[in-house]
Amino acid sequence: MLTIDGSQGEGGGQILRSALALAIVTGTPFRVENIRAGRKKPGLMRQHLTAVQAAERICSARVEGAAIGSTALTFAPGPVRGGDYSFSIGTAGSTTLVLQTILLPLLTAREPSRIVLEGGTHNPFAPPFDFLDKTYLPQINRMGPTVRAALERPGFFPAGGGRIAVEIEPAARLRGFDLLERGALLGRRARAAVAHLPRHIAERELRVIGRKLNWPAETLEVVEVAGARGPGNVVTIEAAYEQVCEVFTGFGEVGRPAEAVANIVVEECRRYLKATAPVGEHLTDQLMLPLAAAGGGSFRSTGLTRHARTHVALIHLFLGATIEETRDDDGVVLRFGSAGGVRSSAI
Ligand code: AMP
Repeated sequence: MLTIDGSQGEGGGQILRSALALAIVTGTPFRVENIRAGRKKPGLMRQHLTAVQAAERICSARVEGAAIGSTALTFAPGPVRGGDYSFSIGTAGSTTLVLQTILLPLLTAREPSRIVLEGGTHNPFAPPFDFLDKTYLPQINRMGPTVRAALERPGFFPAGGGRIAVEIEPAARLRGFDLLERGALLGRRARAAVAHLPRHIAERELRVIGRKLNWPAETLEVVEVAGARGPGNVVTIEAAYEQVCEVFTGFGEVGRPAEAVANIVVEECRRYLKATAPVGEHLTDQLMLPLAAAGGGSFRSTGLTRHARTHVALIHLFLGATIEETRDDDGVVLRFGSAGGVRSSAI
């Protein structure tokens, strides 16, 4: 049984979610301690508990210690089974983060899957649905499986109530790929969405984006979202290239002016547009597990976050694989090799 110190590295929910995914694909039991030790409310919150329960369901795992507030648990995976699954977080917790936990094992399950997830669909500090759909899944689909996601109802913090449905046609094994260049720019677009909030919020956001990025009016779109349980405001800027589509997201909050929301996301987008590496910071940490599990492939990233460093350590621990890292003036190339080397016993 591997032991993981959950306070290491990024030290939040990600180390737990990624450990669950890697444990299932390698059939390795583990114990994690000090879960989210450094956070304001340590231990498992609803979204993390749902992720553990989802992981347990798809592989009939033996689990001890999974409860709200729990700071340690053990997880012993069984064989993965695709099928129809439905998971409801019960709060505005992120549906895409729960998906992050179970997607990798289901990509190579024997059976196809259909997964319905209820909770938040556009949460700060998590992949928004649009990023999942336009940025992440197209890369996953290059690896052999076919995954489609549908936003059935948007869910914003704090009301939640969103729903996504994900269909997975698995592949016998994952194929790595090389993503070293962006290719030609195919399109760019900014969208400001409001649910149960005045339209002028979205219009002001787009005015800032249009002016600061010098983008023409036809690339800017206001969306008045129907069907959300509570209020919400999300701004997304998309840059689509031949090889990758990056999505940058800003979230409206009570007390944060629309102009400030737009400025934050514009800055993030500008940094990416100025750079040349295809893979932005969020896609970087999210592509690492699938490529490591595929045992090959490479990509060029704008830079490694603490989330990415945590993945380097977990991948070494569970797969015994190392990732070759080469820096150039404008990014980092990560190369994934097949498993080998010695597993460390803890991180
Ligand atoms: P954690 O901080 O542990 O909750 O994990 C956050 C996860 O969500 C990481 O995989 C991040 O890459 C991802 N993430 C956070 N913000 C965004 C964003 N704006 N777009 C896409 N992915 C994000």
